[in-house]
Amino acid sequence: MIEKSIQLFQRAQQSIPGGVNSPVRAFKSVGGTPIFIKNAKGPYLYDADGNRYIDYIASWGPMILGHAYDPVVKAIQERAVYSTSYGAPTELEIEMAELILSMVPNVDLIRMVSSGTEACMSALRLARGYTGRNKVIKFEGHYHGHADSFLVKAGSGLATFGIQQVPGITVGVAADTLVAAYNNLDQVKQLVAENKGEVACIILEPVAGNMGCILPRPGFLEGIRRLCDEEGIVFILDEVMTGFRLAPGGAQEKLGIKADLVTYGKVIGGGMPVGAFGGKKEIMQHISPLGNVYQAGTLSGNPIAMIAGYTTLKTLKDNPTIYTELDEKTVYLKNGLNEVLASWGQPYVINQFGSMISIHFSSHPVTDFATAASANNKMFNQFFHAMLNKGIYLPPSAFESWFLNNALSYEDLDETIKAAKESLEEVK
Ligand SMILES: *Cc1c(COP(=O)(O)O)cnc(C)c1O
Repeated sequence: MIEKSIQLFQRAQQSIPGGVNSPVRAFKSVGGTPIFIKNAKGPYLYDADGNRYIDYIASWGPMILGHAYDPVVKAIQERAVYSTSYGAPTELEIEMAELILSMVPNVDLIRMVSSGTEACMSALRLARGYTGRNKVIKFEGHYHGHADSFLVKAGSGLATFGIQQVPGITVGVAADTLVAAYNNLDQVKQLVAENKGEVACIILEPVAGNMGCILPRPGFLEGIRRLCDEEGIVFILDEVMTGFRLAPGGAQEKLGIKADLVTYGKVIGGGMPVGAFGGKKEIMQHISPLGNVYQAGTLSGNPIAMIAGYTTLKTLKDNPTIYTELDEKTVYLKNGLNEVLASWGQPYVINQFGSMISIHFSSHPVTDFATAASANNKMFNQFFHAMLNKGIYLPPSAFESWFLNNALSYEDLDETIKAAKESLEEVK
C-alpha cells in the first residue's frame, strides 16, 4: 500500500516541476510512483504510508554511517542553538579543512562549497584560469553536476532519461567540452593531440558511479596522469561519489593515483548540503581572495553543514575498520546476488568496487557508457519494482550505482538476497 505516496505525488506535481526537486527521484524511467519518505533510521527508510525499506541509495552516498546516526544528530542539535549561519569565518571551518587535509592525499588547500555541482564547476573555472586554456575533456556517462560545461553526454539522470544534449546550453559552451569513452586512453590521447595546447583539464570519476558502477581498467588512470603531466593539463578527479567512501583518502588513496585538483560532495557533508574542491597550492592559490579566479558562497562553510560533515568524517577517520566492514558486506551481497542470478539462468553482470555495486542485465562486460546502455534496462526496471514491493529500495535507474551504508546488518543483506531471488522470478 503506497496510497499516501500516490496522493503526495499528485499534490507535488501541482507546485513542483514533475513533483520532485531532483529529476531521478521521479521514477520516470522505471515508471510508477516515487515513494515519499517520512523518516529514516540506520539502514531503513519509512515512507508516508509507514512501509519500511532497506535502503541502498543512502541519499546517493552521504549516509555512509546509516541514517540519523546519533553523534551527527546530536552535533547538529547542539550547534543549532548558536544560530544556523553567520556569513563570517569560524574556527569550525579550520577544523574541517584540517581534518580533510589529514585524510586525503595531494590536497594542500581546500575550499568548501554547498554541493558537488558547485565543486566541479569551480574546479573547472580554476583549471581554466590557471592554464589560460578553454577546453575540457570529460567522459561519456560521467556526471559532474549540472553546470553547463558538463552536460554533454553525461551520466545519472541524463543517461536515465536519454538526454544527450541539453536545451539551454549555448553552442559555444558545448563546443569547449570534448567527450571520450571511459577506459579508452587512445581516444583521450587523440583528443589532446587534435586540440594541442587548448585543453585546460581532464575531469573524470575515478570509479564511475553515474552509469552503474564501472571500474577503471588497469593503467587507464595512470595513462591520463602521464598525459596531463606531458601536456600541462590539470587532472581533476571528481571524488564527489568516491571521496571518503572508498577509503578515508578516497580513490586517490585506494587506487594510488594523484590528482591536481579533486572535488568532493556527498559523504563530506554527512547528509547536509556540502561540497569542496582542493588540490595543490600552486593551483589553489589562484582562487579568490588569494588570486583572481572568482568563487564565493553565502552559505559556504555553514556551521550546521560543517558540524554534520566534520562528525561524519571524524568517525570515518577514527574507525578505519568501517571500510573493511563495508567492503565485506558488499562482497557478501555480491556473492549472494551472484548465486541467485546464476541459478536464474539469464545473462547478467555485477560490477562492484568497495561499497559501490550495480547489476546489469547484460551478456557482455560493462566497461563504459555504450556497454552500460546496451544492457537490458527494461529488465532492470521490472527487477527494481519487484524489489521495491519487497521492501528493498534500489536506485530507480540502471544508470546509478547502489551505495551500502554501514548500519546494514547481515540479516538485512540476507533479506535483500532473498528478495532478489523472488524478484527475478517475476522478471521476464
Ligand atoms: C552527485 C555527483 C555530483 C553532483 O553533486 P551534487 O551535490 O548533486 O550537485 C558531481 N559529481 C559526481 C561524481 C556525483 O556523483
